[in-house]
Amino acid sequence: MPNAATHRFGAAITLAVAAAHEDQKSGAQTSHPLVAACVGAALGTLPDVLEPALHPNHRDFFHSLACAGLIGLVFHRLYRWEAKTEGEALTRFLLLAAGGAFLTHLAMDAFTSKGLPLVGRV
Ligand SMILES: [Zn+2]
Repeated sequence: MPNAATHRFGAAITLAVAAAHEDQKSGAQTSHPLVAACVGAALGTLPDVLEPALHPNHRDFFHSLACAGLIGLVFHRLYRWEAKTEGEALTRFLLLAAGGAFLTHLAMDAFTSKGLPLVGRV
């Protein structure tokens, strides 16, 4: 089971690479990869904050494939949304980074022996 530091590191690297890729696509050179890495490091353990790993079967809805699907759907719509103001662009960026950190956490947990439940504990 990945520990908190592994989750934070994994989310930071994933988000930094994704933000750098976006910069490369747009031809811009921004501080977004650094900010995205910080958001990833800060929020990489959010699912475990919501459902603390107090016992081996702690994974419930916020660690489920259903939750990943819902966040992925919102993430996709947010990604396609074209912000019209700088405030909207900042909100979009931060929400994408937060969603990316959450999804990275679930992806890392999915590759453990416990995996992810479909909806949650039954
Ligand atoms: Zn977890």
